[in-house]
Amino acid sequence: MPSTGNCPKCGKSCTIHDKREDRIWRHLDTCQLRTFIHCQIPRVICSEHKTITMDVPWSSNMSRFTNHFERFAIDLIKATKNRQKAADLLRISWDEIDGIMKRAVKRGLNRRSDDAVPYLGIDEKSFLKGHKYATVLTDITGKRVLDVAENRDSKAVDMVWKSLSDKQKQSVQAVSMDFWQAYKTGAEIHVPNAAIVHDKFHIMKYMNDAVDMVRKQEHKIYMKNKDDTLKGKKYLFLKNRENFTKEQRSDFRELNLDQLAVGRAWNRKELLRNLWNYTYEKPARNFFQKWYYSATHSRLEPVIKVAKLFKKHFENIVSFLKHRITNAFAEGINSVIQHIKASARGFRNFENYRTAILFFCGGLNLYPQETR
Ligand SMILES: [Zn+2]
Repeated sequence: MPSTGNCPKCGKSCTIHDKREDRIWRHLDTCQLRTFIHCQIPRVICSEHKTITMDVPWSSNMSRFTNHFERFAIDLIKATKNRQKAADLLRISWDEIDGIMKRAVKRGLNRRSDDAVPYLGIDEKSFLKGHKYATVLTDITGKRVLDVAENRDSKAVDMVWKSLSDKQKQSVQAVSMDFWQAYKTGAEIHVPNAAIVHDKFHIMKYMNDAVDMVRKQEHKIYMKNKDDTLKGKKYLFLKNRENFTKEQRSDFRELNLDQLAVGRAWNRKELLRNLWNYTYEKPARNFFQKWYYSATHSRLEPVIKVAKLFKKHFENIVSFLKHRITNAFAEGINSVIQHIKASARGFRNFENYRTAILFFCGGLNLYPQETR
């Protein structure tokens, strides 16, 4: 055995002092047999760093697995998107899978460069049941999640913005979001020069909710008169016209929309969708003005209410035409979250949830260093 070794902190060649007790790392299976590496790692005496345990080339200090094993485990977790299945296939515990994922995400975050991020999205996700929220910051151009924080208050907002360097913050041109005040304030504080774009999917959701409320109110009145015209028609009014099946199309024609309050609400909704098809701002503004007039003169309280909300925020709605961003990517990660949630044991706590999102959607380089 050599009498000298390198200090893990400064790399200086130092005298070996003693050896630690035997440690064991799980390595890739050999002929389907579980394979382990045993080693008593030497400690060196460094003039600067005192008595210190050397690094081993096959693993990181925190792990009970070799780098080769962790790399394979990461691939398997990605392929199965199910932590329990990956744990079973690797013959390790759920907690060990959790540890591998956490280390991988930590590595990935440390390796992130601070490249420009011109377009960002900030969005809320419901986390667990019972109205718990998480705030997710996404890089729209790079199609990746930058960070996730618990809740959707100003503290959470500050936390996700901290994932960016000052240089990156200066590169932000626009941020896509809902009307949620904490998100708006956060952007104004952290990226004061960036435009705010209220996301079209969120806006159309408000509109859809208004249509649905009108339908509900009208249905109630009809049913009092034993008229079931609107029974079972909820989804017809929520669906986009072009997605109707043949049956739904004829169903819809038979409704005689002009006679119905919900028909009038629906018309306003369909009309509003055109706003995002404009190329230039001036005609878009004219269009909205006309739409606003027709919405506020519809005598439909829920429609009037959302129209006023849209008018109040209109500058940050029409900014879409310049930047053309939406929260579609953030919406897309829902399916990944659902998938992970559905797999065994789901999310036990917020930390699990954040780790899973960053692992699968963070665009991170998760692998351990190449083994020498
Ligand atoms: Zn040293």
